[in-house]
Amino acid sequence: MTVKVIPLADLRYASRMPHIPAQFQPVTGLLSDTLARPLRDLRISVTDRCNFRCSYCMPSEVFNKDYAFLPQSSLLSFEEITRLARLFVAQGVEKIRLTGGEPLLRKNLEVLIEMLARLQTPSGKPLDITLTTNASLLAKKAQSLKDAGLQRVTVSLDGLDDAVFRRMNDVNFPVADVLRGIEVAQKVGLAPIKINMVVKRGTNDAEILPMASYFRNTGVVLRFIEYMDVGATNGWRMDEVLPSQQVVERISQAFELSAIDANYSGETAQRWRYADGAGEIGVISSVTQAFCSDCNRARLSTEGKLFLCLFASQGHDLRTLLRGNYADEQITAAIGHIWQARSDRYSELRAALPADTSPLGDSQKRVEMSYIGG
Ligand code: SAM
Ligand code: SF4
Ligand code: SF4
Repeated sequence: MTVKVIPLADLRYASRMPHIPAQFQPVTGLLSDTLARPLRDLRISVTDRCNFRCSYCMPSEVFNKDYAFLPQSSLLSFEEITRLARLFVAQGVEKIRLTGGEPLLRKNLEVLIEMLARLQTPSGKPLDITLTTNASLLAKKAQSLKDAGLQRVTVSLDGLDDAVFRRMNDVNFPVADVLRGIEVAQKVGLAPIKINMVVKRGTNDAEILPMASYFRNTGVVLRFIEYMDVGATNGWRMDEVLPSQQVVERISQAFELSAIDANYSGETAQRWRYADGAGEIGVISSVTQAFCSDCNRARLSTEGKLFLCLFASQGHDLRTLLRGNYADEQITAAIGHIWQARSDRYSELRAALPADTSPLGDSQKRVEMSYIGG
């Protein structure tokens, strides 16, 4: 008899119980990690499920009907997410991005957005709240998201050619429905819209120019992302990465571009403007030009584990604190302690190694992007 072992989703990744310092430091919003990086951006994964199976993120051979997604009881409730968000904001977070998995699959997400939209920074400013989505449900939900207080959206779209797009999402989803979602989002004012295109050499790089042409003069900011070695299942290879520099070169052959400054410190994209005034594009060179030195992002997984880097293999179990009898002051102090000890800079370390080797070695399992949130 063969016995099938289904891993307990809750125990899939190692996690640590956070340390609660005996003495609390004053909460100033000015935390700094071991590399002098502040805490400003919190990405919250609201579900580990998705209706797409993009090969670079949730390959269908792994994320199939036998895959153990998290049970409902593991997910942080909206109240738990909002409580944590409030404590993170006290510690310096100014921007919250909802992600996943596909965040629009989380039931009543608008209610969470309303709750988060009521939070303010210590100086009384509203938070910058955004969401990253594959846009499959955006046409239906854009208005209610806007009404709930969402300011803008980032849409993932890997090509305009319907056959290429269907192959990349691997669930035969038509590109026309995503384009319609973008249009509706623009109409209801979820702007400025950003589009993320993950470029995989030999798979969708022929879509770079058509995408650039389509979004010129629309107010939409198109950003090209280098295919990254996140997770442990996508079979990443360096030769499938198209360096951003080549993306810029290809676009410049058709339209003149000039470099422009970052909007703010810690911005992941390098910006370029069309010389004829048709708008701007961005490139995110996570592989060829690591930007760890000003990475101010923390990630909260669907089940409440805090990750300090996209490539981490271990999280800090904040849910245990939430569901235990811990006061806000204790959880805030634990967050401060974790951030102050942070030294992660995976992409910089990887860049210094030979191609296709990992700074973590082979023994440590990196978390999947769909679990931790992009
Ligand atoms: N489902 C939503 C979506 O696709 O927009 C949100 C979650 S998804 C994990 C967040 C972002 O991560 C997307 O823009 C996606 O393209 C990007 N992403 C996923 N896997 C990636 C990889 N291997 N390399 C680069 N970007 C990746
Ligand atoms: Fe789903 Fe987004 Fe991952 Fe694609 S990138 S599989 S849409 S979570
Ligand atoms: Fe930040 Fe880690 Fe990415 Fe470096 S590798 S930019 S530390 S998430």
